[in-house]
Amino acid sequence: MIIVPEKEIAGLMTPQAAFEAVEKVFGAMARGDAYNFPVVREALGEGRQYGFKSGLDRVGAVLGVKAGGYFPGNAGRGIPNHQSTVYLFDPDSGKPTAVVGGNLLTALRTAAAAAISIDRLARKDAKVLGIVGAGHQSAFQLRAAAMVRGFEKVIAWNYHPEMLPKLGEVAAEIGLPFEAVALDRMVEAAVIITITSSPAASLMDAHVAPGTHLACMGTDTVGKQEVEPALLARATVFTDELAQSVTLGEAQHAVAAGLIGESDITEIGKVINGDHPGRTDDDQLTLFDGTGVGLQDLAVAASVVDLARAAGSAIEVDF
Ligand code: NAD
Repeated sequence: MIIVPEKEIAGLMTPQAAFEAVEKVFGAMARGDAYNFPVVREALGEGRQYGFKSGLDRVGAVLGVKAGGYFPGNAGRGIPNHQSTVYLFDPDSGKPTAVVGGNLLTALRTAAAAAISIDRLARKDAKVLGIVGAGHQSAFQLRAAAMVRGFEKVIAWNYHPEMLPKLGEVAAEIGLPFEAVALDRMVEAAVIITITSSPAASLMDAHVAPGTHLACMGTDTVGKQEVEPALLARATVFTDELAQSVTLGEAQHAVAAGLIGESDITEIGKVINGDHPGRTDDDQLTLFDGTGVGLQDLAVAASVVDLARAAGSAIEVDF
């Protein structure tokens, strides 16, 4: 069995490798070659949450589970509140094959999903990237989005404005001008990423211009919401996994309000596989509901194991 500790991941995994691994598994999901098992999520009390996301990629021969959760007391211990670990197994024998740190991988695979949606669905001439949110994930989102379009400027809004300068530093690092703006300035953006833990819509229909691509990445639980449901009614809606999108993704609200139904939502894997055209005109609003699936975690973990082996840094133990 291979062990890849959390501290080794940054030296092995790149946003590009995460993009490739996630794109491949989204395609496999849409072909029915890979599927996610039901998610287990438990409240442990005192704000602690723990859960398991798992799945099988038959063709990629990946079976496994990400065990992870949120521990609000960790900040006081000097460790991240979010803690996760990925366990991989041989799909033929069930024998464990790897244990991989899952914290950085979670951010990379989430940003990769948004970047894949931008790559496949945003206008090619997109110049202004809008970001709603400035928490831990936002920097990863910005870096991954910048890989797939020639953005010339980043504009951002956050509920807690004091968090925005840190995101501005990331924009500066990759050479992009950055401006903190009011939400109504998001009409200037050709791509908008929302990445907040908001319980109610921040981005409204009036804040989004025709032709925009929206990647809604923050809503991964019942009760979270980032955008006005009218936006989903106006948009061509895509997702990672339909079952999650309508129950716990951003689409949960538009579906509950009767504005859209399951048949209005397309898994992005169909676009990747060439079975759906994606964007068909420049004025079309496209929206990706990125809910986060276990197979993303397994795909990037399997990729890290390959990279660790190739680098000669894999720790092997008899198990
Ligand atoms: P974080 O705690 O670091 O940041 C939270 C963000 O939400 C900040 O920008 C904060 O200002 C904003 N926020 C908090 N309360 C708000 C409110 N009432 N209205 C508007 N904005 C508010 O969190 P993070 O790690 O950056 O994660 C952001 C979100 O992304 C979380 O909801 C998290 O669960 C989700 N997430 C999704 C995936 C996925 O695959 N889709 C993966 C990882 C995280």
